[in-house]
Amino acid sequence: MDEIHVPNDATYSPVSLTDLIATAPLASRILLGATLPGRVLSAAALGMYAGSAIKDWVSRREVRWIDFQREFGCDVKTLRPMPESERRKEVSRLGVRLSQGYTDERIPRAELAVSVNHHLTEYIAGITGQRVYTSSQVRDFTLAKLVFPFAMGVCDVVSGDVALFRDTGIFEPHIICHEFVHRQGYWKELHAQALSYLALMASGDPVMVQAALAERLHRQLKVLAGDDHQAYHDLVDRLDLREELADQLHALRPDPGAYESSVSVVMKKLYDERMKLTGQNGLSDYDEGFTNFLWTFGGSSSARQERWQTEV
Ligand SMILES: [Zn+2]
Repeated sequence: MDEIHVPNDATYSPVSLTDLIATAPLASRILLGATLPGRVLSAAALGMYAGSAIKDWVSRREVRWIDFQREFGCDVKTLRPMPESERRKEVSRLGVRLSQGYTDERIPRAELAVSVNHHLTEYIAGITGQRVYTSSQVRDFTLAKLVFPFAMGVCDVVSGDVALFRDTGIFEPHIICHEFVHRQGYWKELHAQALSYLALMASGDPVMVQAALAERLHRQLKVLAGDDHQAYHDLVDRLDLREELADQLHALRPDPGAYESSVSVVMKKLYDERMKLTGQNGLSDYDEGFTNFLWTFGGSSSARQERWQTEV
């Protein structure tokens, strides 16, 4: 099979180069009382960052990208809305399946990242006939955490740097896989959600399948509850899930702290606008778009990929 190796050098740097570029001048001013070493350090980081990004870009020139419309019968702008009654039925089925298949197995993050990356690479290769190998490195911290407090993780699409902001429990395989789809070069959120779900389901690994199904349930609940926090928690309680699962779903929607909520409101609005400017539907692509994607794909007569992948 055709193979491509994306170097992702920036992801192997001991600290995030993006952070270094942002903070080096300030740090050196405090530590050294001078700005020149800061500028030198900052320029060096910028050079490494740009060099890595260019190498990745060059390696990607021969990538065969997935044509979502052709393969799944839908894409960002051709989604059909899933009826609310169908959402409610799916939520019940997901709840039952998750409770029955529950596993408390937890794989250490670094090991999990390698495994997730393998399954994602294989899934994409099954569609395109091409294996695109990328880094499995994941960071625990970058400054982006302060800017996107509502996010679980982030991928810098230029450098491919991925950071996870917290312990995300059973969702961790999905969070990592979502960011790794971006690292593959698919920067749209709908594509990251969809490919992550399908790749994890296809893996057959109980820990990965559980993460995919839990994410699907979480997103359906978000669509049904909208902005109403209490409605979300009530929906979780009514599902009669195993306690471990219910706890994790509740934990995804804590009452936000003052800083988080004010920053979140502003940043979410900006992010939503930015998504719309880049040919996406907005933040709704994470939940409504994602669930509509599975619904449209499942009912498509033109999709080349097997539609049973969407069944619960
Ligand atoms: Zn994303």
